[in-house]
Amino acid sequence: MSTSTVINPATEDVVGDVELLDVDAVDDAVARAVVAQRRWARLAPAERAGALRAFAAVVDAHIGELAALEVANSGHPIGQAEWEAGHVRDVLTYYAAGPERLIGQQIPVAGGIDITFNEPLGVVGIITPWNFPMTIASWGFAPALAAGNAVVLKPAEWTPLTSLRLAELAVAAGLDPDLFQVLPGAGPVVGMRFVTHPQVRKIVFTGSTAVGTRVMADAAAQVKRVTLELGGKSANIVFDDCDLERAAATAPYGVFDNAGQDCCARSRILVQRNVYDRFMELLEPAVAGVKVGDPTSRDTEMGPLVSRKHWESVRGYVPEDAPVAFRGSAPSGPGFWFPPTVLTPQRTDRTVTEEIFGPVVTVLAFEDEADAISLANDTSYGLSGSIWTENVSRALRVSRAVEAGNLSVNSHSSVRYSTPFGGFKQSGLGRELGPDAPLHFTETKNLFIAMGEI
Ligand code: NAD
Repeated sequence: MSTSTVINPATEDVVGDVELLDVDAVDDAVARAVVAQRRWARLAPAERAGALRAFAAVVDAHIGELAALEVANSGHPIGQAEWEAGHVRDVLTYYAAGPERLIGQQIPVAGGIDITFNEPLGVVGIITPWNFPMTIASWGFAPALAAGNAVVLKPAEWTPLTSLRLAELAVAAGLDPDLFQVLPGAGPVVGMRFVTHPQVRKIVFTGSTAVGTRVMADAAAQVKRVTLELGGKSANIVFDDCDLERAAATAPYGVFDNAGQDCCARSRILVQRNVYDRFMELLEPAVAGVKVGDPTSRDTEMGPLVSRKHWESVRGYVPEDAPVAFRGSAPSGPGFWFPPTVLTPQRTDRTVTEEIFGPVVTVLAFEDEADAISLANDTSYGLSGSIWTENVSRALRVSRAVEAGNLSVNSHSSVRYSTPFGGFKQSGLGRELGPDAPLHFTETKNLFIAMGEI
């Protein structure tokens, strides 16, 4: 049996060791999940709804514990981690309505009755990244369970603790222990076994575009269903007619939240040339004002990067001669600290084209609306973005023209559990969250019943 050591990214202290499962352990878990799924799907819809509400209530009673675990494991600021745990409860509560609302259709046809059923898929495999471990897990497991499936979930190697605890809380709430199983392990071992196992009928993968591409290709061998939530390089477009003070004051939080380790980070700020100098004057104090430090402190707005390896990757984008306009602060000493950093590179620089996934933002000037749209779309990604303007027609025109799944005007909001979330182009395939998410964990079965003449 191998283990991996979990490190606190703010202190570099050892948090604990986690067992890494092998392929045989995955096969055992899937076999048990198959049996549990049949039992679960046979329950009355109201019983399944009640079980998910009970799960939500137990999560609610453990918000503090889950948040503290995420602070220690991932370095998220405590206020943010509490929001994340509360979000898991809310996602469960929202999808607890699912079992009683998968109502199918009755379609008028000649000679009989035609009805559709939303049948569960069976066992669903969820593979999660390290940046938002418990929230992203819940976007998969809550609607999948609501639709009558069993779930096996593989957390990222660096951040397994909150997902493991959520599986225990599900059991404490009365769910069958085989219905929702968290299986820690290496991506190419446990994650890939989900992809190749014939009884895992769908993969929900959130992570890098490189690994997601591989998952999709290998899933094709069994025509396995996939939802992919991948990388991003989103634009924050600032027009000259916007509230420039507010655009500048909020821009750091659109990219530096979670230390920039956010697939929706607005990591390219595009500013209309005639207000560029003024915007930069306003941005500098806003960046300096981001409170970076001890994640256990309630004042902290940004914590460390998740690991030494990731810190080295982010640092690689800011060499000595990088075009740094200005930087915020970061603690020294132990921990994987990186200050908020603002770059003013050329349009073709790799800091403009590649996902850095750290607190590094590029600022580019644009000439007019057409130039802004073409710059925003000059990427293989298409996840989110923001548009700052007081002109409603322009806001709508630009929103329709930007190729991205989640846009906001005069704000940086991306994720609400009640609205659909996902990417255009190489940012993903399919959508999570919103009212339709349980349907994405079902197959539509059509049934015709001959009625004869009346
Ligand atoms: P990653 O692709 O390295 O890993 C993601 C998960 O895949 C991990 O659990 C990993 O163990 C597993 N994995 C690795 N190799 C595998 C394989 N061969 N088969 C199956 N599973 C395998 O990504 P990461 O570094 O953990 O996360 C960062 C990335 O995730 C960024 O690109 C970010 O943009 C993206 N992300 C996207 C969203 C979204 O909703 N679009 C949300 C969060 C993160």
